[in-house]
Amino acid sequence: MMDEEITTTKCASCVASQPTQQKNCPSCGAKGTTVDGATVKSMLSVSLRQVREISYHFCAAADCNVVYFSGDGTQTFTTDAVRERVYQKESEADDVLICYCFQHTPGEIRDQLAQSGDTTLIDDINAGIQAGQCACDWRNPQGNCCLGNVRQLVKYLQSTDKFSVSE
Ligand SMILES: [Zn+2]
Repeated sequence: MMDEEITTTKCASCVASQPTQQKNCPSCGAKGTTVDGATVKSMLSVSLRQVREISYHFCAAADCNVVYFSGDGTQTFTTDAVRERVYQKESEADDVLICYCFQHTPGEIRDQLAQSGDTTLIDDINAGIQAGQCACDWRNPQGNCCLGNVRQLVKYLQSTDKFSVSE
């Protein structure tokens, strides 16, 4: 590993499974990134007899209830067919998980920012990744690292000062 890798830490499985293909969600039309079949299988709460040997994609659109769809567009799995609550589908909630491996929520981030203006969660997640404790492809519905989402939320909250309005 080169030194420069450290600033954008990702676990081995995430680096190995970079999204290579995008397809449009048959429900909302947003582009969905490829997810590993193993992610779909571990996340579904319905019989896996429905899962086929084709590509599956993750729809991250907040206003769409489709989580996974097949590459041929004929099959969708909605939020009620998925074992976890999906961060992208309810990112305004305080108690949905944003980091599925280490069980962190947006509420925790909002609280930390409200108290100190900063958050220790990114360091904590990085430490977990470096210790080889993450399993994003099994635990996170999107099938890869949560760090992008965490950084984006922190940046958004810090830029809008939204965290200081906690009534
Ligand atoms: Zn969609």
